[in-house]
Amino acid sequence: MSQAELSQLDKAVADQGTVPNLTGAQPSRRQGLDPDTLRLTLEALREFTTGHFPDLRLRELDRVDEAPVEDLRAMYSDELGIHLLFLPVEYGGMGGGAFDIYRVCAQLAGVDVGVAVGVSVGSLGSDVIARGGTDRQRDAWLSRIAAEGLLMAYAATEPEAGSDLAALKTAAEPVVQDGTVTGYRITGKKQWISNGGIADAYSVLANAPGGPTWFVVDAGLTGFEHGKPENKHGLRTSNTAALFLDDVYVAADRRVGATEGQGLIVAQSVFGYSRLMVAALGLGAGWAALDRALAYAATRIQAGGPLSEKRGYTHKLIVPHAVRLEAARALLEEAAESIDSGAGALNTEGAIAKLMATEAGHAAADASIQALGGYGYTKDYMVEKIARDVRITRIFEGTSEIMEMTIARDRWQQHLKSGGRHYLDEAAALEALNAITPDVGAGVAALAYHALAEVMERARIGRLTRHQHVLFRLGRLIAYAECAASLSRRAKRAADGQQHPKADDRFAPAAQAVMARIFAREAALIVAEEGVRWLLSGDGAATQELETLEAALRCEDIHAAQQGLLDDMDELADTLFQRDPRN
Ligand SMILES: Cc1cc2nc3c(=O)[nH]c(=O)nc-3n(C[C@H](O)[C@H](O)[C@H](O)COP(=O)(O)OP(=O)(O)OC[C@H]3O[C@@H](n4cnc5c(N)ncnc54)[C@H](O)[C@@H]3O)c2cc1C
Repeated sequence: MSQAELSQLDKAVADQGTVPNLTGAQPSRRQGLDPDTLRLTLEALREFTTGHFPDLRLRELDRVDEAPVEDLRAMYSDELGIHLLFLPVEYGGMGGGAFDIYRVCAQLAGVDVGVAVGVSVGSLGSDVIARGGTDRQRDAWLSRIAAEGLLMAYAATEPEAGSDLAALKTAAEPVVQDGTVTGYRITGKKQWISNGGIADAYSVLANAPGGPTWFVVDAGLTGFEHGKPENKHGLRTSNTAALFLDDVYVAADRRVGATEGQGLIVAQSVFGYSRLMVAALGLGAGWAALDRALAYAATRIQAGGPLSEKRGYTHKLIVPHAVRLEAARALLEEAAESIDSGAGALNTEGAIAKLMATEAGHAAADASIQALGGYGYTKDYMVEKIARDVRITRIFEGTSEIMEMTIARDRWQQHLKSGGRHYLDEAAALEALNAITPDVGAGVAALAYHALAEVMERARIGRLTRHQHVLFRLGRLIAYAECAASLSRRAKRAADGQQHPKADDRFAPAAQAVMARIFAREAALIVAEEGVRWLLSGDGAATQELETLEAALRCEDIHAAQQGLLDDMDELADTLFQRDPRN
């Protein structure tokens, strides 16, 4: 095949031999692409999306409620070859790691969340095979997906099994001949399946006699049908449809894995990646909206001057959202880096990243509508569409509430196992960081951890986590505190010139430090105030004396740490609007 015939992403792979490899490592399935290949990949993607998805077209697709199927197929073809990023090198893919996938998904979501869902869900379908399949199945299927650009769907959810996947009813009945299972007959209904009406093949979760099991089901099999596209609030450029399986026969080799019953374990292992992916969608969409608000505010004149100079506007509608998005990004990047270096699936970190990035992304998009006033509320301005599109990220791949539960349960265990030391130890590490680099908010993030450790210990003594609401709220406090710590560490790395070579480099080290200080103050305040609130709210309230409680949570220090907040917000507004603060 000539160079000209190679897809743009193939070219990026081919170019690896000619560009300097900054990591010094060959791309492997775990470490992912080298930084130059990632850069070329992002450039190729930008070129493709600029040509295919101008705003006018996306707004029209949204209006007529249509997924751009031909463009998706072009993305999976030699024209771009985006699917290769998600596939291991040994099967003809590029072997993108978690970090690469986050960067690509965030950039794509910045163009259109629906298109990003079409692409990323395809990868979830193949990920089921990559993680749960036998060597033979991986070889057969992943090579085929790479070569043919098969569009896949991931079909787990059912009408009565959403957050609680274990409640699934779709049944896979073995077909036995001469004592051997030769195939399965699958019957059931799947709900809200992305790419449901357009995929070539589907990873379908069904109950076999040995327990939940994944099957690969081809489109068009007898008894296999899909519903019409759902009429959704947003994400209208993504096809979402119900699936109906009525005695659909698949051969035994379509059962993913050597045995039945691995389905929920495989689904869990997919979550590690997929939650980072959805976090990236929230992040990309949130920034896409906020960037439009930034541009608008710089030119919209009200009361004699541009909105960008009015702090009642910038410090409410722009600055805090930029900070929360970057706090989520810091944790997302740390988690992706750890996953790529072999730390396992990191489901809890994935849950924190998803919760924080999708909530921040949605809040940023909503604030961007506000920032554009009446114009923001119309279909002619993209922020309205982005806000509707990004809303789904708080629901799928585990709702925000399920993320809060996941986070709280895991960290609760760590609190118990460590005899209450877990966050105290983390606080000590941040204090050490603060001693070396005092301007990245690490001291205040440490206060958040101290307060968190205290809240968790008092909740344990008061047996407050019996109340599901308190447990979920703890999940949120933990997510805030951990993002504050991540952002401080990220700012420190940036200050030391040690930023991850594939990290997003939009903000200079000084701006990262400002954001870290602002977010640490917010996190510490939320942990302290919400902590006091919920500790006092339950049956154990009698054992909590307010003054002692506030002293134990170091509320005074946390309040004192708010000093300097306005200056930092002013500085960040100057950075965001690219103003020279001396003028
Ligand atoms: C546009 C779209 C695309 C999707 N794409 C896919 C796809 O490609 N593949 C796929 O398999 N699925 C897909 N889904 C399904 C999605 O993952 C589910 O909608 C999601 O997991 C939530 O499940 P549910 O809708 O049944 O809500 P439920 O689980 O019924 O939840 C309803 C509410 O109750 C809360 N809740 C649930 N359980 C608890 C609990 N134990 N305690 C407290 N509160 C709880 C939830 O947080 C939520 O607020 C998609 C959904 C949509 C809307």
